[in-house]
Amino acid sequence: MRKDEGAATTSAELRAHNLARLLRAVHGGGGQLTRAELTRQLSLARGTATVLVRELAGRQLIEELASPADAPADIKVPRTRGRPTGVPSAHPRGPVALAVDLRDDSFTLAAFELTGRCTVLDRQEREAGSGTGVLADVAARLKIRRRQFGGRVVGTGVAVPSPVSAGQMVQPTLPDWQDVDVAAVLGGGPGGAGVEGDEGFLGPILAGNDATLAGLAEARRGVLRGVSVALHLHVATGIGGVLLSGGLPVTGAHGSAGEFGHMPLTGGSEPCRCGSVGCWELDAGARGLLRATGQAEEGDRMLHAEQVIAAADTDPGCAQALARVAEALGRGIGALVNAQDPEAVGLSGLAAEMYQAAPAAVRAGYLATLMRFRRPEPPALLPSTLGELGALTGASELVFDAFLTPRGLGAWPAPEQKTA
Ligand SMILES: [Zn+2]
Repeated sequence: MRKDEGAATTSAELRAHNLARLLRAVHGGGGQLTRAELTRQLSLARGTATVLVRELAGRQLIEELASPADAPADIKVPRTRGRPTGVPSAHPRGPVALAVDLRDDSFTLAAFELTGRCTVLDRQEREAGSGTGVLADVAARLKIRRRQFGGRVVGTGVAVPSPVSAGQMVQPTLPDWQDVDVAAVLGGGPGGAGVEGDEGFLGPILAGNDATLAGLAEARRGVLRGVSVALHLHVATGIGGVLLSGGLPVTGAHGSAGEFGHMPLTGGSEPCRCGSVGCWELDAGARGLLRATGQAEEGDRMLHAEQVIAAADTDPGCAQALARVAEALGRGIGALVNAQDPEAVGLSGLAAEMYQAAPAAVRAGYLATLMRFRRPEPPALLPSTLGELGALTGASELVFDAFLTPRGLGAWPAPEQKTA
């Protein structure tokens, strides 16, 4: 994840280091901070900041506006008093991160500007074809979009429905995705070399687990922003998530941590699709909802689960199933809070929907499993504000984490070298 590239020792290195820091601060603030606010935040001298802003603007990395562009997501920045200064924002010909949210049955492709503003470009359902066919469709769309944005593309982030280890999908839901190297099939060079197009270097292709990236997005641009240690849970067909410390995901020795759905948090000994037994996701999440209403686990399980939640108002059977599964969700959350001691817990996907539909049941389960000393002030449960855009936003953050470093910025061409 985000790394500083060692200590700067020469004045050129110091300058590159400060340019990257300033650009990271513009990115982190969503283009809402004035130059004066950024200068203070980074403890820069005013003159230094002016020179750095001028250089970034000259390289078409930022454009200074008189007032902030629309705030993306829910970033709200308190205004400070004093003489107004310009607001460093995304340059209209500035860097773009392409992001893909790959699912079993569809994919979404979006472009993110430096300040986090997102444009959804493509959304495609999977036809009857294979998982390999879906990846070929994604690769084809990416090729078109890379051509459209030309030399502005600084990388591609891909959120995938599988634990990821060394860039490979190690336990995907579709059998023909097993051990697929995501970067290699989406047009990256050999050995993770990134994309080389007619427009020059188009950055690396970086893959991550969808639930992990949804949590990363909440920590950067959503409900977990500024939370010191946060647990995020994303519930879909399965349950995944991530522990974030200081905004950085704790992803384990191989990058595949956070498979919370495959822990026996609610008991039982039934075998799970993952190879383990008594997994939490059998009782909580979409699988839990379908099992609790006696429905077969087939077809669009998320859609069927959402129908159960929606019908709970009028159908007593669905209401009972929702209450049972919401309580199982809460029980698991309590167990995880006992283990991880987060300051707050973010909820996305079905977890947010269930919490909003049956908050009392979730809270009952949560308090039942929390250790006594935690109960007077249990960590807050915070439904996601990014919703469907969570995984995509997290994928774009992977790209900007790599780009907003002295080395990443070094690959950004000067305006006169650009072909686009
Ligand atoms: Zn399992």
